[in-house]
Amino acid sequence: MLQLVNVGHKSLGDYRTLVTRGLMEEIKRLAEPLAGARVVHVSATAFGGGVAEINYTLVPLMADAGLDVEWRIIHGSEEFYNVTKAMHNALQGDPRSLSSEDVEIFARYNAQNAADFAESDYDFVIIHDPQPAAMIDAFPQRTAKWIWRGHIDFSTPNQDVFDILLPSLRHYDASIFHMREYAPRADGLGRVVIWPPAIDPLQPKNMALSPEDAAYIIDQFGIDVERPLLTQVSRFDPWKDPLGVIDAYRDVKRRFPEVQLALIGSMAHDDPEGWEYYNRTVEHAGGDPDIYILSNMNNVGGVEVNAFQVHSDALLQKSTKEGFGLTVTEALWKARPVVAGRVGGIVAQIDNGETGWLVDSPAECAEACIEILRDPAEARLRALKGKEYVRTHFLTPRLLRDWLVLFNQLAGRDTGASDIISV
Ligand code: UDP
Repeated sequence: MLQLVNVGHKSLGDYRTLVTRGLMEEIKRLAEPLAGARVVHVSATAFGGGVAEINYTLVPLMADAGLDVEWRIIHGSEEFYNVTKAMHNALQGDPRSLSSEDVEIFARYNAQNAADFAESDYDFVIIHDPQPAAMIDAFPQRTAKWIWRGHIDFSTPNQDVFDILLPSLRHYDASIFHMREYAPRADGLGRVVIWPPAIDPLQPKNMALSPEDAAYIIDQFGIDVERPLLTQVSRFDPWKDPLGVIDAYRDVKRRFPEVQLALIGSMAHDDPEGWEYYNRTVEHAGGDPDIYILSNMNNVGGVEVNAFQVHSDALLQKSTKEGFGLTVTEALWKARPVVAGRVGGIVAQIDNGETGWLVDSPAECAEACIEILRDPAEARLRALKGKEYVRTHFLTPRLLRDWLVLFNQLAGRDTGASDIISV
């Protein structure tokens, strides 16, 4: 069998004070007819990336709701991951295609993993992302309902590569995408469902942290906790625009000379592109002692990211292209003013002028920061609305509820829930 991931235990009861009673009751009602339903999540990795982040909370909560749920990881090797990385990029628009050898490798690994998978053991099989998407081809006599969860933007795929995947995707009973715009334009896909991802409000990165504890933590990094601080948490990647953030900060500094900037990004040892852009960012900062460029290499983990978010006067996510933008969700959840690029999933999260600031340039980003520093009380009101929006839309119990609605619908039960969007 495919390797099982140990997710430990979580209790839905712990989330009771964080979401509405109505939602908790709905989860209970939807879970009742699904008691004991056998569910398996299948993905390529249990570490790093959005799927892992979500599943470590979602899977134990599904179990606590009464489902018999597992999470399994497919077998792979370098030759397979090279192909799936190229496929991932192509599905998001990279013009490079796959060779016939690549296609053969993809099919072979999917067939091998399918041979190690007992589909008749399950009522619902959830396949995450493209890597294991073709396993379904090995089960023409399926007894489970198969669901494909796409976590990337399929709105402008490289058509050659998408066509390799499409025959498999057509076998699924349902496919799920983050946003309507991200669903591929293709016939014969079965049910297409849209729902956004969610964050876990109880994990170290998002749990409640007092201002004193947050200040204590960031003081360790040399930041002056008495002076204003702007922070962006992001990979060092051109689309996250750290250079534009530095330009905006310089504008702000002309009006508020005391302001400091923290750029926090996780670095992988094996990601040369990330290092190259990190170096460009350091160079652009030009040795300014008020710019702090930090990463996991400086021991900035979940709690530290939380502390920076809680302590900052404004949180930036000045992306020029974005998938969903979980950093924005996390920032809004801390009830701090958020200034973010008007792109991708960010526009689904921030209502400009109501719950945060959407910007199109470093100059607009600077203007928004200046407005926030000038009138923190007014900015705080907006930030509090942003937090409430996250509470009702982007916390894991809502995601659990959406899954329960879909399971019931696929089992032919009318749930009375009309607000998961089918297109
Ligand atoms: N993240 C982190 N430490 C860092 C940078 C990023 O923990 O130094 C996390 C961040 O908190 C978020 C995720 O990585 O949970 C990034 O997700 P997002 O959707 O914002 O962007 P992506 O990197 O997937 O494009």
